[in-house]
Amino acid sequence: MVATTERDGTTWYECEMCGLLFDDRNDAEQHEANCDAEEPSYIQ
Ligand SMILES: [Zn+2]
Repeated sequence: MVATTERDGTTWYECEMCGLLFDDRNDAEQHEANCDAEEPSYIQ
């Protein structure tokens, strides 16, 4: 799940696995779907 964070009046979307921030929800969801910050065996 992508987390939302408000900072300076702007909503950011955060990858919960690696903490990367995006200003676009779709970008964050696409990144998270392919994020390899966790062990692959954990996700699959
Ligand atoms: Zn990530």
